[in-house]
Amino acid sequence: MSVLQIVRWPDPGLTEVCAPVGEIAPETRALAENMLETMYAAPGRGLAAPQVGVQRRLFVMDVTWKEGKRAPMVFVDPEILWSGDTIVSHSEGCLSIPGISVEVPRPDRVRCAWRDLEGRAHSQVFEGFAAVCVQHELDHLNGIVTLDHVDADRRAELLADYDGLSA
Ligand code: ZN
Repeated sequence: MSVLQIVRWPDPGLTEVCAPVGEIAPETRALAENMLETMYAAPGRGLAAPQVGVQRRLFVMDVTWKEGKRAPMVFVDPEILWSGDTIVSHSEGCLSIPGISVEVPRPDRVRCAWRDLEGRAHSQVFEGFAAVCVQHELDHLNGIVTLDHVDADRRAELLADYDGLSA
């Protein structure tokens, strides 16, 4: 396994809609393993393929490892099947926009369907931080970042101190 380089916004790859993974090849497994390694090293709790320069619909997530319990999950071709009516805002960071936290309003619960690396289909309701994470990572697969959830003024304010370009 190896740690991959995380691309930083405004890399154009972060604004593209990613293509489906489809059939799971050995390269898909290697990519997912490297993405998990990269996420743990960052350190982060979620990482989407376009954040490592791969325009495919795949993300990895582990919402509990920072509390000492590793539970890696790989989402291949995920989709949101249902969203709750209650909207809540959380302050969201992003490994591709270091140093910038954005308040993003989102449904507090979502049902997500995906396949794992063995091709098995899953469907699960996520809530709390996991719901935020799933929606944040799925946004990446659709070329959307946290900054796209705020108006132009707020965005300019947030970016005033952003050093991503010089990194
Ligand atoms: Zn992100």
